[in-house]
Amino acid sequence: MDSKYEAVIGLEIHAQLLTDSKIFCGCSTKFGNSPNSNTCPICLGHPGVLPVLNKKVVEYTVLMGLATDCIINKKSIFARKNYFYPDLPKGYQISQYEQPICEHGHINIKKEDNTQKKIRIKRIHMEEDAGKSIHDQDYDTLVDVNRCGVPLIEIVSEPDIRSGEEAYLYLSKIKQIVQYLGICDGNMEEGSLRCDANISVRLHGEEKLGTKTEVKNMNSFRNVEKAINYEINRQIEIIEEGGQIVQQTLLWNADNNEALPMRSKEEAHDYRYFPEPDLLPVIIHENWKNEISQTLPELPEIRKERLTTKYNLPEYDAELLTQNRGTVDYYEKVVDKTNDYKSASNWIMGDVLKSINEEKIDIENFPIRPENLAELINIINNGTINGKIGKDVFQQMLKEDKNALSIVKEKNLIQITDSSEIENIIDSILEKNSNEVKQYLGGKEKVFGFFVGQVMRETKGKANPKVVNEILRGKLNSLKEV
Ligand SMILES: [Zn+2]
Repeated sequence: MDSKYEAVIGLEIHAQLLTDSKIFCGCSTKFGNSPNSNTCPICLGHPGVLPVLNKKVVEYTVLMGLATDCIINKKSIFARKNYFYPDLPKGYQISQYEQPICEHGHINIKKEDNTQKKIRIKRIHMEEDAGKSIHDQDYDTLVDVNRCGVPLIEIVSEPDIRSGEEAYLYLSKIKQIVQYLGICDGNMEEGSLRCDANISVRLHGEEKLGTKTEVKNMNSFRNVEKAINYEINRQIEIIEEGGQIVQQTLLWNADNNEALPMRSKEEAHDYRYFPEPDLLPVIIHENWKNEISQTLPELPEIRKERLTTKYNLPEYDAELLTQNRGTVDYYEKVVDKTNDYKSASNWIMGDVLKSINEEKIDIENFPIRPENLAELINIINNGTINGKIGKDVFQQMLKEDKNALSIVKEKNLIQITDSSEIENIIDSILEKNSNEVKQYLGGKEKVFGFFVGQVMRETKGKANPKVVNEILRGKLNSLKEV
């Protein structure tokens, strides 16, 4: 970015809550049911019906507020946000406008240069989702209202974000927190986490905010970063050429890497907000708030800290393992059964995450049970098998749900440490490869690896590498002296 200018960015993040039923009726929130089957007169907006607030939605929102250091307002109210759209049968969305449930929080992001930055959260409020218009079928446009009334929280940041990178980090942190809380799966590609950005630029040192635009439709974390940087540059170019920024909403097009105008941006007064007359105010007494805070899990920052002290893990490992709650839960189940904390971390950061990425699964569906991975680590450490065979056993455990030791026994993989057995094998290999022996004795050190390879081939990888090295080194040295 041109250093003459400073970008001012605020994010509005919608997170779909993982409740079983909708926010104001008993309909299922299950994704993928046939279109318009998760519906009732309430979420279809029939006249005369009354919404009833789902208690779980309030509890989840309060959890998010507590996790982000918000003030939990004792009293909050719902409001009608009026607009017409085919996927909104009621003609209004029930949301919160004045008096939201949570306000004035913050989270910290850690930037690439290791500095921390505090991003303030203006408010978190509850609302219902709208339905979905489907345009890509052979008909004109179809409407599926299964999503009408699915609970959302909207997390609105203060305009503290200054770049695409900071937006990316902030959004990642929000995702991490909702996942730790178990209130949203955080999947942006599937739309359970959505992000809109308000962006303006101004000269450095300028107090007054520039005209802002809103960028929507950024459906991946990387797209958020890209779209914001694109829009910052677009605004700077216009200003540099002496033009004016038009307040409008732009849609990010990920295929062409550009943001195109969708409509002129509406102001809050366009929605004619007014208090929802069918719902009572939400009152959160101190004891209810305390009850909810009892269910607050250990949050990522604190858990990371604990990993470095309790298991003596490097900062890097702790950071990586705690990025996702499932991963760190898995780690702690493994180290419950092995004392080799660092090996457990290495296996998870390496082979486990690699397999998960390749198979595109969640760690919750990872086929190797934590106790079986722990056993694998233990039988490598106690010399039952060597590390190389350990990798094979791991691959086998991915395919079948068996513990490490039974695979080792079944496939006869126990490590050969008997030095007389290894010595015999080495003798016959040296005899058969007299040319290579000459090369080695002639100073070609590299041939040593060839002999090790031969021994491993002969023993199907089961020889103890340390014993092989020692004996082989000894034999070859004694040949040198002759
Ligand atoms: Zn319903």
